[in-house]
Amino acid sequence: MTRIVIVGASVGGVKTAQGLRSGGFDGEIVVVEKEDVAHPYDKPPLSKAYLTSPDDLGAIRLIDQEDLAAIDASWRFGVAATGLDPAAKELLLEDGERLAYDALVIATGSRARTSPWGEGPGIHVLRTTADAHALRSALQPGRRLVIVGGGFIGAEVAATARKAGVDVTIVDPLPAPMSRVLNEDVGRIFLDKHAAEGVRTRFGTGVDGVERVGRELEVRLSDGERITADALLVGIGAVVNTEWLEGSGLVVDNGIVTDGRLRAIGAADVFVVGDVCRWQHEDGSGSTRLEHWTSAADQARLVAHNLLSPAEARAYVPVEYVWSDQYDWKIQVVGRTGSAESQLIGDPAHDRFAVVYSDGARVTGAVIVNWPRALIAARRAVADRGDADALVTMLTEITAKAPAPVVS
Ligand code: NAP
Repeated sequence: MTRIVIVGASVGGVKTAQGLRSGGFDGEIVVVEKEDVAHPYDKPPLSKAYLTSPDDLGAIRLIDQEDLAAIDASWRFGVAATGLDPAAKELLLEDGERLAYDALVIATGSRARTSPWGEGPGIHVLRTTADAHALRSALQPGRRLVIVGGGFIGAEVAATARKAGVDVTIVDPLPAPMSRVLNEDVGRIFLDKHAAEGVRTRFGTGVDGVERVGRELEVRLSDGERITADALLVGIGAVVNTEWLEGSGLVVDNGIVTDGRLRAIGAADVFVVGDVCRWQHEDGSGSTRLEHWTSAADQARLVAHNLLSPAEARAYVPVEYVWSDQYDWKIQVVGRTGSAESQLIGDPAHDRFAVVYSDGARVTGAVIVNWPRALIAARRAVADRGDADALVTMLTEITAKAPAPVVS
């Protein structure tokens, strides 16, 4: 194999390139990236500290200069892929070039869903460094920010903005932050946390419209309330970047459909990683697409392996993991959460707790806040489909022996 082309230089693309080199690939690697950046950057900090710090892009590099040089790839920043001809094994670029490949890895990710209430000054989304820089200028003490969407972006930016002294209101038709992922009861723990930190919460309420009144924005809620804001952040989910594959023959269904080993259906030499990958489970139990940083990194390592060792190709069978920083809470989510069966261990008022999710008997997932030891136990239990009662008992005993200190 002489040339592997990777589309996308975020975590999935960069870690694939790294995995190929560390796995001994000595052919040519070309990475094509639509965004015109000087260096691949990491997205998780964009909704956290980076948003209110004076740091430049150097602070959020995805990979340091030395490791980047070691990959020895041709980096084509600022060039979009516009089409794919799998029969000819060519990637079509916006400048008209047809870039030939022996194998292709698609890591084009997703973009922020745009505001349904109009765009323009003061109305933000958050996905790229340019978005972060625009939003940063709005996060001054005393300024009023309305956040629509209480998912990960909304909850993290609320925490970051509150720390900076911004007056924050979150609006979401769901009953609590992150409740789609965590379930309503658990979401309410986070609702209380945001409220205690001074965020005004309008859950169970939608947005009917946004009007511009001079330099201000007036946000009309579905219950009739009007909130005046200096800025609006729309954090209502992501949309996969697959339009460029129209007509390619690849199977696209809210993500590019792959087999269990992340090989695109309909094109033998094309692999897919990251937000854009919808893989079919090898046991026939359906398909999944994840938007997690760690999934992209794990898929990248797997694809590098499967490309280099096709005879020992492995299936992708993840234990999902997501982390989030909100105020003084380090939130870690492992496995499948959201099921109705969840048990709380510890006390959120003490800033250390766990929630164990189960199918009634076996652990399916957990949410852990500020409790590294519980994370280790939960991760093991999720991977082994361990007994839920046993995990709950173990964590309860730890709490009884060593309660978390009360934070006044
Ligand atoms: P998200 O986590 O999917 O949350 C979006 C929220 O907005 C959901 O509660 C959603 O409710 C709500 N929503 C949808 N349409 C709405 C509307 N018209 N009005 C009001 N609320 C609406 O997406 P996100 O927070 O925008 O994040 C975007 C991506 O970045 C995701 O892939 C996310 O995983 C990723 N991200 C991850 C992290 C992390 O892992 N720590 C941090 C930041 C971002 P419904 O579910 O009902 O649509």
